Amino acid sequence: MPDIRLDHLTRRFGVNAAVDGVSMVFAEGSVTCLLGPSGCGKTTLMRMIAGLETPTSGSIRFGERDVTRQSARERGVAMVFQYPVMYRTLTVAQNIALPLARDRTLSAAERGRRVDEVLDVLDLSAQRGLRIAALDMGARQKVAVGRAIARRCDVVLFDEPTTNVEVHAKLQLIRAFKEFRRRMRQTIVYVTHDQTEAMTLANQIALMQSGALSQCSAPRLLYDRPDSEFGGWFLGSPGMNFLEQAGSGNGLRAGIRPEHVRVFPQPAPGRMEARVTGDCITIGGQHLLTLALDAAVLKVKVPPGDGLPVGSAVFVECPPEHVVLFRDGRRVTEPSRS
Ligand code: ATP
Repeated sequence: MPDIRLDHLTRRFGVNAAVDGVSMVFAEGSVTCLLGPSGCGKTTLMRMIAGLETPTSGSIRFGERDVTRQSARERGVAMVFQYPVMYRTLTVAQNIALPLARDRTLSAAERGRRVDEVLDVLDLSAQRGLRIAALDMGARQKVAVGRAIARRCDVVLFDEPTTNVEVHAKLQLIRAFKEFRRRMRQTIVYVTHDQTEAMTLANQIALMQSGALSQCSAPRLLYDRPDSEFGGWFLGSPGMNFLEQAGSGNGLRAGIRPEHVRVFPQPAPGRMEARVTGDCITIGGQHLLTLALDAAVLKVKVPPGDGLPVGSAVFVECPPEHVVLFRDGRRVTEPSRS
């Protein structure tokens, strides 16, 4: 399996740089999720890796091979799209077998073996004889994944494959994806705007902002130690809180995630007084309290039943090991543990 190396990759549309000087490595056999807000350039970056979009400048290498000017076919990548293109009147097994039929180097027995393996990996064996028209979106997307991985391309690209799939089928797809990763080791680039999906599937997350690479790190590191306030804000639901360093005048801001702020009814050394400004609301099973701390708004995750009346005074602690310092939007130091 090759790694994928991007060197100052740029794609302009008129004056707008959809992708702006991105340099990064996708390690061989790894899963990299491209994550970021709508319009940040994820799809354009992936289409350039696929050979479906021509870079304005910069280069793409698969291992030692410079593929920048190669066509999609020459690159030998497989893709799974948001809307899978399927032959509705053919069966699941026939759809998976189709791309293999074009490969004259494979015997009929080998083609059969690969189809069986893919059906097994994706837990589709029971549906092998069903026509695509009879399947829901989730199962169709599994077949699309099956078709892509049966070819055993070194590189597989996924473009938001779960966007049009309902929640239950999405979980099944993610489970199937994990099983396929356990058994096969292609280099994978996976575009998503769903941070939970990215945190679940990725070895590394490439977070993009306005065409540029904001940070490329292991998911936990990106969450715990974002290089920028943008990363702290974008990841998490809600994202990081940011507090001015009172009176410092040095442009420093302290970032802390809502689950790490501790709330107490009583003052004590090291606690800051805050005021409840919003009713405790429940989002996705989490209880969220909104506080005012000087001029800052502080979102805090609290245990159930810890809601307090609007206007009450509370006392908050920000444990230093969970505080990340930023200057001009960039992380400046490791959190102090003093
Ligand atoms: P989304 O999550 O909404 O799919 P994205 O992160 O994938 O967004 P892109 O689709 O890569 O972002 O688009 C990045 C920028 O490039 C956007 O401003 C978009 O309008 C612009 N863009 C993309 N393709 C074209 C094109 N063919 N012509 C002109 N502008 C384009």
